[in-house]
Amino acid sequence: MPDTLPFRVLRPWLTERFGRPVHRVALDAGSTCPNRDGSKGFGGCTYCDVEGSGTGALKSGAELEAQLAAGIARVARRDAGGGVIAYFQSYSNTYVERERLRAVLGVVDPYLDGKPVVAVSIATRPDTLPPEALAELARLAERTEVWVELGLEAANDRVLDDIRRFHTVDDFRWAVERCHEAGLQVIGHAILGLPGDGREGARRTAEVLAETGVIGVKVHNLMVLRRTQMEKSWKAGELEVLDAATYVDWLADFVERLDPRQVLHRITGDAPVEERLAPRWDVHKNAVRDLLAAELERRGTRQGSAHGV
Ligand code: SF4
Repeated sequence: MPDTLPFRVLRPWLTERFGRPVHRVALDAGSTCPNRDGSKGFGGCTYCDVEGSGTGALKSGAELEAQLAAGIARVARRDAGGGVIAYFQSYSNTYVERERLRAVLGVVDPYLDGKPVVAVSIATRPDTLPPEALAELARLAERTEVWVELGLEAANDRVLDDIRRFHTVDDFRWAVERCHEAGLQVIGHAILGLPGDGREGARRTAEVLAETGVIGVKVHNLMVLRRTQMEKSWKAGELEVLDAATYVDWLADFVERLDPRQVLHRITGDAPVEERLAPRWDVHKNAVRDLLAAELERRGTRQGSAHGV
C-alpha cells in the first residue's frame, strides 16, 4: 500500500484506534427484513439476492456462540493477539423483539474488554431502529464500541423507490441522528450506478453521508447477482452497469465529497464471481484503491476537497 493515500482507509485506522490489528468475524443471526416478510414488501430490494437477506430462521444462542467461537479461533490462528469486531452481518438484525436482540448481542459478553472483541458491528435498515432496539444497543455501547451499519444506497427517494428499498433519505438521516444520540457510531452504505441515479447521484449520496457525520462509509458499484429481481431486467437489456473506468471516475467524485474524517471501510463489492452476472470486470480491491489514488492525484484532489479542505 502506498505510504500516503488521498483518502482514509480502514486497516491503518483500526490499528491506530485499537492499538493492534483487528479482524472481522461475520455472524449470521438468521434475521430477515421488512422488504421480504411482507411488512413492507415481498421479494426484497431489486439487487438483493435471496441469501443476502439471511435465512429468516433465527439461530439459537448456541449456534451463534459456536459461530463466534469458531471465528475467534480462526483469528487467533492467523494473528495471535489480534482484536475482533463481532459483525452481525445478516441484514436487518434489529428487526426482532427486544428480548431476542438482547440475547443475540449477549453472545459477545464473554469476549468483551478486548478479549478479543474490541467492537460490535450490526447491520440493519434505517426503518428498523425502534427505541427498544436503540436502548439495547446503547446498553452494549456502555461496554464496547458499537457500530450500526445502515444502508442509504442512494440519496434520492425516486431511486430508492425504484429499487424497492421502501425507506427514504430522511429515514436515513433520522436513523443516524437517533444512533448518535444513543452513543452509537454509524457506517453508511452506498451503491454507485443504481438505475436513474447517475454521476450526479453519486455526488449527492456522498454529500448526504458527509452531512450526517457517519464515521465510516462502505461503497461499491452496482452488481447484478443471480436470483435477484435485477437479473430479469438485465437479461432483458433494460439495465446497464458501470465499466471499471467509469466506476473509478464516479468514485473519485464521491470521495472528494465525503468528510475528510470519514473512513472508507470498503470501495468495492465482494460478490463471488459465480453469483455475479454483471459487471464481468474483475479488478482486485487493491487495484481499485490504486486506480482511485491515481485518479485523485491526476485531478490534484483528495477526500473532502470538494468542501475546500
Ligand atoms: S438489501 Fe437489505 S433491506 Fe434490501 S431486501 Fe436485502 S436484506 Fe432486505
